[in-house]
Amino acid sequence: MLIPARMSEAEEQRWVTVMLDKLAAQENKRVLGDAELTERAERLSVQYFDGRARPTSVRWVTNQNTRWGSCTPSEGSIRLSHRLQGMPEYVVDYVLVHELAHLLVPGHGPRFWQLLEAYPRTERARGYLEGVVAADRLPHLPAARDE
Ligand SMILES: [Zn+2]
Repeated sequence: MLIPARMSEAEEQRWVTVMLDKLAAQENKRVLGDAELTERAERLSVQYFDGRARPTSVRWVTNQNTRWGSCTPSEGSIRLSHRLQGMPEYVVDYVLVHELAHLLVPGHGPRFWQLLEAYPRTERARGYLEGVVAADRLPHLPAARDE
C-alpha cells in the first residue's frame, strides 16, 4: 500500500482502515454481483423465454472491451463486460437477454431477433449502447469537462 508521507500515526491508522473497508466492499460487490447476475439471468429466462434458456453461470469479465457480452452455449455460461457496470438496469438486462437468446439460437438471423422482441426495451437498450460506443470515439477534450 502507498501511504502518503507526513501522516501522523493516528491518521495513518484511520487511513488504512478506510482503505481496507473500501477494498472489502469492492470484493463483496464483485462476488455478490456474479451470483446475483446468474439469478437475474435465470429470472429473465423464465420471464421472456419460458425458462428454455438455461444459464449455468453468469460473470463479469474485464478482458472484453469490444463486446458487451458473450456466451458458451454448450456450457450455458455467459460473460458480461465490466464496462456495463454502472449502466442502467434495462441495458444490463438487454445484454443478458441477448446472450440468453444465443443459448437457444446462434448468430443474428431473423429467428434470433424474433426472440429478442419478447424483451420490450431491446431497441432502447441498443440505442443506449450505440451511444456509448459513439461517445467513446469522440475526441476527448479535457477542457470541455467543466463547461
Ligand atoms: Zn449476439
